[in-house]
Parts: sequence; C-alpha cells; structure tokens
Amino acid sequence: MTLDEILAQIKLSEKIVVLTHESPDGDAIGSSLAMKLMLEQLGKQADVIIPEYSRLFGFLPSADQIKESSEITNYDLAISVDCADLKRLAKNEYFENAKRTIVIDHHGSNKMYGDLNYVNPVSPACCEVLVGMFGYFNIDITKELGTCLVTGIITDTGGFRHDGVNPETFEFTAELMRKGVNIPRIYKKVLRTITKANFLLQKRVIDRMELLADGQITYTYITKQDEEEVNAEPGDHEGLVEIGRDIEGVQVSIFVRQKDENTYKISLRSSEKVNASDVCLMFGGGGHPRAAGASIQGDLDQVKEKIVKEVEKALNAGK
Ligand code: 5GP
Ligand code: MN
Repeated sequence: MTLDEILAQIKLSEKIVVLTHESPDGDAIGSSLAMKLMLEQLGKQADVIIPEYSRLFGFLPSADQIKESSEITNYDLAISVDCADLKRLAKNEYFENAKRTIVIDHHGSNKMYGDLNYVNPVSPACCEVLVGMFGYFNIDITKELGTCLVTGIITDTGGFRHDGVNPETFEFTAELMRKGVNIPRIYKKVLRTITKANFLLQKRVIDRMELLADGQITYTYITKQDEEEVNAEPGDHEGLVEIGRDIEGVQVSIFVRQKDENTYKISLRSSEKVNASDVCLMFGGGGHPRAAGASIQGDLDQVKEKIVKEVEKALNAGK
C-alpha cells in the first residue's frame, strides 16, 4: 500500500522539504503547513518552501516558518502537495535534487512525477486527501493541524459548493468544530476577505468583461500594468476568474493574466458542459473538470483568440 511506503520513506529521512505549486492558493498553503505539522508529530523537522503567497494566509499556524528558499540543496526527501506537474512546482530544483520524492495530490491531470505518488482525483481538495492519510497514520488532528486542513477544504470547494464535496467533507469539518476550530471565522478570512488591490482589480475585470457565444462564455483580463497601478501583491488576482461563472447562463468563465511581455496565464472555470481541464491540456496546462489553467504565448489579442476558439469548440461539442 502506497501509504505504508510513504510512512516508511518519511521515517527513513532526516532532511525533508515540502513544496507546492506556484501562485499557491489556500489548498496549496494549507496542505504544505498541514504536512509540516504532521511530520513534527512523527518527530521530523521539515522545511516548507513557498517563494510567494498572499498575506491573507499569514494567519495559518506555522505560516511564519515558511521559507523562500533554503541553503540545503540535497534533501533526503521532497514532498510535493497539490501540484499536478513538476513544471508548475515552485522551487522544483529542491525536488529534482532530493534523494527520494513523494507526490500527494487530487488533480486528475497529475503526471505522477514522484517516486511514490498518492493521488485521489475524486477528492475536492488536497487537504482532504491528507485527512485520509493522517487518519491512516493515526495522527492527532490538533486545532492547528485542523485549521490548515479546513482552510484547504474551504478554499478549494469554494465554500462547500463545488463538485466533489461529499459527506466526509462535512463530517471532518463538524469534527473540527467540536474540537474548537472556529469554522465561520476561517471561512470569512479565506473566502470573504479581499485585499484593497483585489477589489480594485475586480472593478477593472468586471468593467472589461465580455459576454460571448450568446452569453455562455465570459472573457476578461488584467495586464501587468493593471497590477502595478493597484499595487497588487502576490495572490491579489485570486478569485477574479470566479466572477464570470456566477452569471446566469454562463458555461465557461475565461480570465487571462499577463505574466510577462509575451506570456499570459489562462484560468478557466466551467459550469457543466465543458471540461476545463481538457481545454487547458491542449495548451500544456491542466487542472480539474470545473477549474483549470495553462500558460499561452503571444500578444493579448492572439491569446484571446486562441483560448476563446478552443472554449467555443468544446462548448459546441458538449451540446
Ligand atoms: P487557477 O485558475 O486557480 O490558477 O487554477 C485552477 C486549477 O488548475 C488548479 O487546480 C491548478 O492547479 C490548475 N492549473 C492552473 N494552471 C495550471 C497550469 O499551467 N498547468 C497545470 N497542469 N495545472 C494548472
Ligand atoms: Mn487543490
């Protein structure tokens, strides 16, 4: 059983590093810190390396111990959480130079790039995969550990409303509540609190939003200049893609964010008809059926044309 092998590898290792995907969301950060706290219960110290993340997650237990980089280059064990693809793993050189590697994830598009891979594509959050794993390891779910885990569950399920939410999601959340974890407070902090820069970006994104294909597709974007003008910090673009999908009749929301001169990051959210992950895979990206992303080269007009065309095709095929 992979879980027994994972536990054996952890026990064998002294220098351990935990890594996650670039532009980390609540599930990525929550999974990383939960993993660190779990390893401490097993008597292991681990470095969590996340070069940039939203300060809205700064309240998470042990967030103050997150490192931007490390002097250690040859870890005994590298653990990747919530990341489907080695390319997308932030600071992946630590993974590549580690003696042994483990991948823990919930993306159906996971490339299984670890020595050991524990991937459950049915799980709505990587943190929920960890709940099962920690149960198997007989880990005590403390208030701190629970806070990290439920943060990932709340953010990746959009507040218990996305596909994949299941009875266990609520059972685990209820159990944490009994232990004194303040679920409404975490919910407000991670889903309902936005930075001022995010608010200013929302105004631009809404103002520019186009309704295409008879109102079934929304398209909008932000440039580097927009982010500079509102003094955006890491994570301030989070959630902008969700706005379009909430409009009645919209099947796919497309959000484009400029990364550099000629590279744009695409985010898709879909309602029912389109598999967003399949569309993004065509551009070398991936994700989940209802939430996926990719990077595309070109200028903004070219990128818009490419992605809108593929989404329209997928929409017509899904009719
Ligand atoms: P977001 O749109 O929030 O950046 O990402 C939505 C989902 O798609 C996440 O699960 C994320 O991991 C995945 N995703 C986003 N961009 C990429 C990408 O470039 N490559 C891959 N493989 N997955 C991505
Ligand atoms: Mn996730």
